[in-house]
Amino acid sequence: MASNSAKSAPKKEAEELNFFKNASALFEKAADHLTLEAGVRTVMKTPDREVTVAIPVVRDNGKLDVFTGYRVQHSFVRGPAKGGIRYDRHVNLDEVRALAALMTWKCAVVDIPFGGAKGGVVCDPRELSQRELEAITRRYTSSILDVIGPDRDVPAPDVGTNEQTMAWLMDTYAMHVRSASTAVVTGKPIALGGSRGRTEATGRGVMLVTREALKRHKMATKGQRIVVQGSGNVGGIGARLLMEAGHKILSISDMYGAIYDKKGLDMVDVLAYLSKHKKLTGYPKAEALSHEEALELECDVLVPAAIENQITLSNVDRIKTKLIVEGANGPTTPQAHKRLEERGIPSVPDILSNAGGVTVSYFEWVQDRQQYFWSEEEVNRRLEEVLVRSFHDVVDTAQTHKTDYRTAAFILAIGRVVSVYRMRGIFA
Ligand code: GLU
Repeated sequence: MASNSAKSAPKKEAEELNFFKNASALFEKAADHLTLEAGVRTVMKTPDREVTVAIPVVRDNGKLDVFTGYRVQHSFVRGPAKGGIRYDRHVNLDEVRALAALMTWKCAVVDIPFGGAKGGVVCDPRELSQRELEAITRRYTSSILDVIGPDRDVPAPDVGTNEQTMAWLMDTYAMHVRSASTAVVTGKPIALGGSRGRTEATGRGVMLVTREALKRHKMATKGQRIVVQGSGNVGGIGARLLMEAGHKILSISDMYGAIYDKKGLDMVDVLAYLSKHKKLTGYPKAEALSHEEALELECDVLVPAAIENQITLSNVDRIKTKLIVEGANGPTTPQAHKRLEERGIPSVPDILSNAGGVTVSYFEWVQDRQQYFWSEEEVNRRLEEVLVRSFHDVVDTAQTHKTDYRTAAFILAIGRVVSVYRMRGIFA
C-alpha cells in the first residue's frame, strides 16, 4: 500500500493526500451543482461536536502510557450520529473529521435515518495485548459516554476494531447507565444483540454494487477478473463473495504484500490461511507481488478495500481496469479521480459501495430496539433492496446532473441532508 502519511511527501503530493481537504473539495463540487448558499455550506461542513480525550493505560510491562482518542460528531440532522471507531497509528483529528462527514453522506445516500460520526484512538492494535485493548476501549468509552447513546451517537467497528471491541464498549456503557442498552453500538457479537449478516455486510454490499455496476456498463455479471486491495472485513469477505458470484479473484493483498494467481484464487483457502498465519505472506498456492504491482495488474474490476489515498496522481496512469468499486473510505484522491474519468474508467464511490456495513448496522439498531431478531436471509434481502435502490438513485442523479457517480452520490446525499435541515429550521 502507498503510505497514508503525508509527512515525507513533497508539498504537492502532501497536498493531494490531505484527506480532509479532499473530502471538502468533493463537498464543494456537489454543493455547486445544488447551488447551495454560503451559510448552508458552512453549516453542512462544520462538525457539530468534536471530543478529544486522554486515555491513560497501565501497559502489561507496568509502564503508564497515555493514548489519544477522538469522537467527531459531524451531523445529527437526519437522526442520531453513526459511524465506526478506528484504532490505527495514523489516526488524527483531520482524518476523523473527514471520515465523520463521509458517514453523514453515506447514511444519506442509502437513506437510513442517521447522521454521521467517527471515532479513533491513536494506537497500533497489533502491538497491544487483549488486556491493553480492553483497557483502552473501556477508558475511551467512559470518556465519551455523555455524548454517545442509542438516540445520540451509535459507534461501530472500523479499521483495527472488531466485535470484541464493540462488546467491551457496550458493557462499559451498560455498567454506567445501569441498563443493558444494546442499541448503543452496532457490530456486536450476535449473542449480545448483534445482527446476523453484519460481519459480512460491507463485503456483501461491495459484491452487490459490483453486480449492479457491471449490469449498468453492459459487462457480464460473471467471469470478470477482479483485483482486491485489502483482506479484512471488507476486502477479504468481498473477494470471497465475488468469487462465489462467479468471478475470478486475480489478486488480494494485506498490509505486508499481495498474492496473485492468473487462474483465480480460492478465497476460502486464502482466508483460512490468513486466519491461521495472520498474514498472506508465504501463501503457498500463489505468486507474491508488491502492493504496487498488484494495484497495477490488468483486470476488469479493481476493488481498493484497505485505507484512504491508494490511487493517486503517482500511480493513476498505470491503473489498468475497466471499473473501480471502492471498498475503503477515500481510496482515490480527487486528482486521481479526475484522471480516471478522463480515461473513461468509472468509479462506484465509497459512500455507496461500502455502505452495506452501516446499512446492516441500522438493521442491528432497529432489531435491538425491538428486541426481535431477523434471520440472515431477511437481513440480506433488505440489504440488497437498499443497495440496489441506492445504486439506481445515484445513477439517476448522475444522469440528471450530467456528472460522474462520485459527484452524483454527494449531490444526492447533501441534497437529502439540506432538505431536512431546511424543514427543521434553525433553533436559536
Ligand atoms: N465503519 C463502517 C463505515 O465506515 C461502518 C460504520 C457503522 O456501521 O456505523 O461505514
